[in-house]
Amino acid sequence: MPRSAPPQAVFICSDVYRKQAFGKNHPLSILRVAGVMDLCRMLGWLDEDCYLESPRADTPALLRFHDPDYVEALKRADSKGSVEREVRQKYRIGTMENPLFPGLFRRASTAVGGSILAAEQALLGRTAFHPSGGTHHGRPDRASGFCYFNDPVFAILTLLDGGIERVLYVDLDAHHGDGVQDAFASDDRVFTISVHEEKRWPHSGLVDDRAVVAARNLPVPRGFNDTELEYLMNHAVLPLSRAFAPQAVVLTCGTDALDGDPLSRLKLSNQALWRAVESLLELTGRNIVLGGGGYNPWTLIRCWTGLWGRLSGRVIPEVLPLAAQTYLQALECDLVDEDDIRADWITTLADRPTHRPVRDEIKRCAEAVMA
Ligand SMILES: [Zn+2]
Repeated sequence: MPRSAPPQAVFICSDVYRKQAFGKNHPLSILRVAGVMDLCRMLGWLDEDCYLESPRADTPALLRFHDPDYVEALKRADSKGSVEREVRQKYRIGTMENPLFPGLFRRASTAVGGSILAAEQALLGRTAFHPSGGTHHGRPDRASGFCYFNDPVFAILTLLDGGIERVLYVDLDAHHGDGVQDAFASDDRVFTISVHEEKRWPHSGLVDDRAVVAARNLPVPRGFNDTELEYLMNHAVLPLSRAFAPQAVVLTCGTDALDGDPLSRLKLSNQALWRAVESLLELTGRNIVLGGGGYNPWTLIRCWTGLWGRLSGRVIPEVLPLAAQTYLQALECDLVDEDDIRADWITTLADRPTHRPVRDEIKRCAEAVMA
């Protein structure tokens, strides 16, 4: 069957992400989406007509999913710059994990606003790329896992408001998409699939976890490679997705499953992730691609830049222009040892594929979720 022309793709972001955030010693204090915007502009991939500035979600919008007392506590903590002990314990804010920093409330509500806008664009038949989205651990009443709000939930709610009856959510971040799964656990309009590293925080998303109505979980062992992802896509994720017959697709595409990420032990190349995303986007004409985790600035910026390139129909260059190489060379990250910075993280966009045999535990995982 001939493939139809790809839908128009839009890039949603904001300069709010250029501000220093998360304090000094946090895995998210590295350059992330601002670097993706910069590299895309250097490659000539971010014209005015495909870029949309992310609005901020206002408080009434946030209350659609989050509890009023939590939203109020977060707003107050942000303006005061401190929290009392009970507030810290109750809402998990002002901790090492979910620190307070200037502009926190604005930044978090901008990510929600961006995901709502992404859904509005998807409803128009576009593919919306919102790399600052993907805060998939956020809970109605507390922060969790570096996430204060849960923007993927808002993207899905907006699609449902727009009359979509079946939303597929696929989470390819190295961590279980627990907050999104739990938000829709008893709503059969939303089917969630999460592929994540086993035995890693938040330790949920076991292979037999199917939520109340519709979820599938594929926990994978360390060293998870490109061939194994392709196997799981072909033998589990895509068949399950097609059977659900979604009318819209929301993806969380963290880069922490890539080889070289300091917080997980999976070994995917960015090309494998791009292919997996593309295969899911063929299911419908209404697509939202969110970011997510990712703690190595080189692999993250290259992956999401290349992902935008693929979504917007660009050809990935073999070698990056010198200005882009200089930009990547200047990045810093305390969590990545200087000796571990690979030459091709500076000179190229596409990683070399990590093709290895498919291990039996991967085959068993696919079998279990299909049973
Ligand atoms: Zn993650």
